[in-house]
Amino acid sequence: MFYKSVIHMSDELTIGTATAKKGELAKGVIPGIELNTGTKIDIPVLVLNGKQDGPVLLLVSTQHGIEIQGIEVIHRVMRKLVNPDDLRGSIIGIPVENPLAYMHHQYLSWIDNLDLGGGGSGSLLTADNPDGTATERLANMLWQEAWSKADMVINIHCNVRPDDLIFQEILTGNPKTKPALEKMAEAFGVTTIVDDTPIDPNAPPTLGNLADQNGVPVLLMELIDGRWISEPSTSAGVRGVLNIMKAFDMLDGELEQQTGFPIIPGKCKFQGIVRANKGGLIRFLKKPGEYLKQGEVYAEIFNLHGDVVEEVKMPVDGYIWAYPCGDILGTPGSMQAVQTGANIGYTFSQVED
Ligand SMILES: [Zn+2]
Repeated sequence: MFYKSVIHMSDELTIGTATAKKGELAKGVIPGIELNTGTKIDIPVLVLNGKQDGPVLLLVSTQHGIEIQGIEVIHRVMRKLVNPDDLRGSIIGIPVENPLAYMHHQYLSWIDNLDLGGGGSGSLLTADNPDGTATERLANMLWQEAWSKADMVINIHCNVRPDDLIFQEILTGNPKTKPALEKMAEAFGVTTIVDDTPIDPNAPPTLGNLADQNGVPVLLMELIDGRWISEPSTSAGVRGVLNIMKAFDMLDGELEQQTGFPIIPGKCKFQGIVRANKGGLIRFLKKPGEYLKQGEVYAEIFNLHGDVVEEVKMPVDGYIWAYPCGDILGTPGSMQAVQTGANIGYTFSQVED
């Protein structure tokens, strides 16, 4: 067994103010921060403690405030589909990890402009600092109360458009977590982007990096149409979570094949972000998931006179997974207009195993 044995061998599992005895669902909050009004911003949490021992699975959503599909996935899994009598181990569910971003319908925290996930083009966030900024304190509480207690994490994000490609990403550069991550990805069963860069012990202590350094496997689930609760995202997410639980013997039952959206088979590798060299509006000529040859034009930028000012070409033979349409990781604006340097497409290609 790869999982830790300390927390869930006792009869109770406590996360923040939620304590679930074996066979129970508990609701509570992870204490957060206070605004200048004195209003508390806490993080709601659900804890489902199975009758029998097994791993602690952490499900988190909405690290980015406008990516809400995972909230529904967590609710369906924990409130409707998994009966604690049949569950081996436990599930911690955090539907909105960054309430500061979510409350303003924003990608980042409005209060300090930080990305709770710590990545991307925003300022780097540290999750190991209880004396940090507002968002850093939320990240630290999440680390202390939930992430550090988990045996595995499913981190649910979304791209913006409904025609983006549902995919997952795993970081396999840590030999300790690689086997579990590959097993999780196979069970989820969607297009898989693999990053095998060796683990960096000096990487900034974001939630993901802390987990990686502590040997906790984190699967990044990227659903689509992130501002809405819609299909096929919710079904794909629910199916994926249940499949992973079955693969790790937390539940009985056969794994269910993913269906209803395109899946690129095999192992894939991220090939970079294509950015705009001109400003204007953008017209997409190809769909995410469609095979494109290197040099193929897949989008064009036109100015306000209606003239095409740039043809956007594919840098490699491969695919686009999403059209972000915006600046900071593409998601805040989500309007079909770009300035010089705005993200247009995330590219990837299939690689040999
Ligand atoms: Zn995200």
